[in-house]
Amino acid sequence: MKALRIALGVIAVLAIALGAAAYTLRKPLAERVFRSVVADTIGRDRTADLADGLHVYLCGTGSPMPDPQRAGPCVGVLAGKRAFLFDIGSGGARRLARMGFPVGQLERVYLSHLHSDHFDGLGEILLQAWVGGSRSSPLPISGPVGVEEVVAGFNAAYRIDSGYRTAHHGAAVANPAGFGGVATPIQAPIGPAGEAIVVLDDGGVRITAVRVNHGPIEPAYGYRIEYGGRSVVLSGDTIYSPVLVREAKGTDVLLHEALAPAMVKDMAAAAASSGQANLSTVLTDIQNYHATPEDAARAAKEAGAGALVFYHIVPPLPVALLYPLFLGDAGKIFDGPIVVGEDGMRLSLPAGSDELDRRMIR
Ligand SMILES: [Zn+2]
Ligand SMILES: [Zn+2]
Repeated sequence: MKALRIALGVIAVLAIALGAAAYTLRKPLAERVFRSVVADTIGRDRTADLADGLHVYLCGTGSPMPDPQRAGPCVGVLAGKRAFLFDIGSGGARRLARMGFPVGQLERVYLSHLHSDHFDGLGEILLQAWVGGSRSSPLPISGPVGVEEVVAGFNAAYRIDSGYRTAHHGAAVANPAGFGGVATPIQAPIGPAGEAIVVLDDGGVRITAVRVNHGPIEPAYGYRIEYGGRSVVLSGDTIYSPVLVREAKGTDVLLHEALAPAMVKDMAAAAASSGQANLSTVLTDIQNYHATPEDAARAAKEAGAGALVFYHIVPPLPVALLYPLFLGDAGKIFDGPIVVGEDGMRLSLPAGSDELDRRMIR
């Protein structure tokens, strides 16, 4: 008994001594941790050790609804060393930076459609690409006709700020000739179900736009990206789309948007009962131009996709506990891997293999 009391006493004294030491050394300890994080993030090229292949950065898996875990729609893609961005919703630019995506090397941004939640982070990305990449020409931005007006608006809004940047950092860092964006409209074929449009095909990278169904928003595009014998398909915003299924045939990963109707119906009813009629109407209206998780699973099954990853997730899913509720019967329809996408997730598809590596980069 006495020995136990002595042992407990010694442990208590040691604990107090350790606590006191940690308190006294808290500043140098914090400094050490900070420097090590800086060295591991800013201090190195975080793409240098990636295998040759396709790397998909989920920088925004949410929707316009506030989700503490998810930015607006945003997907960064590295095809070998070439960097592309597909939509840039609010908060996406910051997530890309945290993930070590080489924004300064961005070659082009592709917009799926002109709903503002798909481009409201464009200002931030234009600024980061311009200065981060010491650009000498504006960043190209492709999208449906009307993208010219969107890009011109961002250029106008950031014009004054760009002058400050050049004056402060000098033209070598913030070259006025590289400021802003330049738009390339993608002309949609006439008719309801468009043919696929090859928007890039060089150096082994092929990107195809396909007209999906997000009516009344016309046109709206999904994209297929191919490199090194691997492919990913992004649905953009759409209901179940046979054209997308056709273009997604045999793809390694189908990234599909989805809205869980039962959950959104509950939200619409709650909004109505608290007197928020407009919100209730919006929550009701949005149900008719998005796919359900089961629709997306059907698309993945029919396309023979290797995996189904959800993005543009409605409603917000702040905790994984809600995932089964969101997914509904999707797992009964598609028997391949189903992943509820999260911001910070990187999917890697090494060239010439059938591997799919998934990791979180916070
Ligand atoms: Zn959307
Ligand atoms: Zn939309």
